[in-house]
Amino acid sequence: MRVGQIWHWIYHKGARDFNCMTNLAGPYRETLQATFSIARPEIVTRQVSADGTRKYLLRIPGGHEIETVYIPEPGRGTLCISSQVGCTLNCSFCHTGTQRLVRNLTPAEIVGQILVARDDLEDWDRKPDEKRLVSNIVLMGMGEPLYNTDNVRDAMKIAMDGEGIALSRRRITLSTSGIVPEIIRVGEEINCLLAISFHATTDEIRDKLVPINRKYNIAALLEACRNYPRLSNAERITFEYVMLKGINDSDADARRLVKLISGIPAKINLIPFNPWPGAPYERSDPERIQAFSDIVNRAGYASPVRTPRGEDIMAACGQLKSASERARRAPPGSSGSARPESAAPGR
Ligand code: SAH
Ligand code: SF4
Repeated sequence: MRVGQIWHWIYHKGARDFNCMTNLAGPYRETLQATFSIARPEIVTRQVSADGTRKYLLRIPGGHEIETVYIPEPGRGTLCISSQVGCTLNCSFCHTGTQRLVRNLTPAEIVGQILVARDDLEDWDRKPDEKRLVSNIVLMGMGEPLYNTDNVRDAMKIAMDGEGIALSRRRITLSTSGIVPEIIRVGEEINCLLAISFHATTDEIRDKLVPINRKYNIAALLEACRNYPRLSNAERITFEYVMLKGINDSDADARRLVKLISGIPAKINLIPFNPWPGAPYERSDPERIQAFSDIVNRAGYASPVRTPRGEDIMAACGQLKSASERARRAPPGSSGSARPESAAPGR
């Protein structure tokens, strides 16, 4: 009963202090206060994009920095959370991949990102029928969640627990670059929806774009997808596909894609490439993206083109990289980076 009360204060009401838990006896509150802390990552900067997207640069113990992005949409609000500081995988089109991994996030740091966003959005103490501003979670921020599966699982258990943050498992999507042996665990132990960063239709190109493909190739990845628990039309796998001009965006690619995923209940999210300083790629033209989308769509798969969100604050997919890392790489004497954004804190 006590645990239920404490969880209600922390995850339903957003309490930051044991002393405010008025239905607990005074001496008990004092013991809690003396023994535990309810900590949140510290907000270093908070930027709000012209489109309403919010990006938080957060500091966690050890002085590391991570980013969390809130994306408001009609009828829902999605929080994009990080699972690692940086990423060890070097996908060639991804800004985060150019930052060396510092460490895995703990379950508290992963849940902490949700708490920080709900604080900032004043999204606490909602009635069961009341709309929540953070209604969906995507593990699509910095890091590869399946290189930190245990901590991600423990955090998502709290996010999904009816007495915790109480989000439905179908409102949580975990995105992976394709760590094949861990994919089954997502379905069995976390039980959320799955997104795959697919991005290419031949091993030759995928080896270059998503180098983990050299270890777990397209065939192995699709086999893992076919075996994903509870796969059905109601619980489709999302295949993310970044549109890179002249690299992976031809009609032949679109046709190969639908052939490869044939039989898998799937949705294809086309992500126009988001540029970052020094990136070796360009975004495909809108007409090319549309033609690609049409082919996939005619084959019977939903293929929405993702509108880049928060580009003006470098909050869009693949642009996350913490300011501390940029500053470290900047030449001596410079103020942090050569980009105009560097004047503003954050990326
Ligand atoms: N590491 C995990 C989670 C990150 S999800 C993964 O790779 O799946 C972020 C998504 O944005 C991934 O699909 C990633 O491939 C994609 N992405 C990375 N850089 C991008 C860029 N510059 N433009 C558009 N999408 C990008
Ligand atoms: Fe890491 Fe994902 Fe970026 Fe690849 S796309 S470098 S796995 S964060």
